[in-house]
Amino acid sequence: MNLTGIHHVTAASAKIADNLDFYTNVLGMRLVKKSVNQDDVSAYHLYYADKLGTPGTDMTFFDWPHIGPKRPGTNSIVGTAFSVSSSAAFDFWTTRLEEKGAKNIERLDFAGRQMLSFEDPEGQQLYLVDDGAAPFDGEIWARPDIPDEHALRGFYSVLLSMPAFDQLDPILTQILNFVELERSIWVDGQSEAIIYATTMSGGPGTEVWLLQQPDAPIGHLGAGGVHHVAFRVSDMETQQGWQARISQSGLQVTEMIDRFWFKSIYFRVSGGILFEIATDGPGFAIDEPLEALGKKLVLPPFLESQREQIEAGLTPIGE
Ligand code: ZN
Repeated sequence: MNLTGIHHVTAASAKIADNLDFYTNVLGMRLVKKSVNQDDVSAYHLYYADKLGTPGTDMTFFDWPHIGPKRPGTNSIVGTAFSVSSSAAFDFWTTRLEEKGAKNIERLDFAGRQMLSFEDPEGQQLYLVDDGAAPFDGEIWARPDIPDEHALRGFYSVLLSMPAFDQLDPILTQILNFVELERSIWVDGQSEAIIYATTMSGGPGTEVWLLQQPDAPIGHLGAGGVHHVAFRVSDMETQQGWQARISQSGLQVTEMIDRFWFKSIYFRVSGGILFEIATDGPGFAIDEPLEALGKKLVLPPFLESQREQIEAGLTPIGE
């Protein structure tokens, strides 16, 4: 039994209108769903993905204007890497990101993976990784100002930091069946890193990079930080198998929560990092036609009766 890769990454923004502008108009992702946080309907929950909302391409943001900035550090998810099809894309993206005011743009090499590192306007740590034109099962969101061959093609990996490998390694390898692919030194030249993957071959969408940073402070969630990462399963039966396995391991795992576009279970791993396992379906096109994704505020059916009240509590964005 293996997870099939990263499903989505959810992060925090205190400036959701700027966030919408950056992820769509700068990075060229498609807003596939404009909704509210199902646990706090006063806040937007925006979902950016490829053209189809394919699992494995979707970065989502909670709109938390008062959260304050993140404190980077251990016991947290410290970076998100997207795939591009070649390192030629780095020249294009360097110029574009500089023009658009992105911060700390830098070319890096991590264990043979060529990367471009940068931050969004709130300090969200992002990377583009050359995936060598690996197969991509989504569809890029074509834009006139971004050549198709340089467009983002879903996630490559997420980057986690812990004080010690052994605080997370057994959970990844013994419970979640990740494979350790290799050990390397992280791009800071100091931290050791382990590259894990959900498959023996690794590659785009399947990898988790774990840093060991014993001297770093403990991180705290805030704007520009990641709230959780979700991993993929094909269906609810597989998810139930994972739920039983995680529960038997002694970790606390939630009941299945119906997020309407997918079904989810959640559990905290070492240091409080939140993991989710989410089904590939039914998907974002269940309640809107594909061509209309993201255009209007969408509420799951159980919130529809409160629409008027919910809309009154939200500041209009992107209109
Ligand atoms: Zn999630």
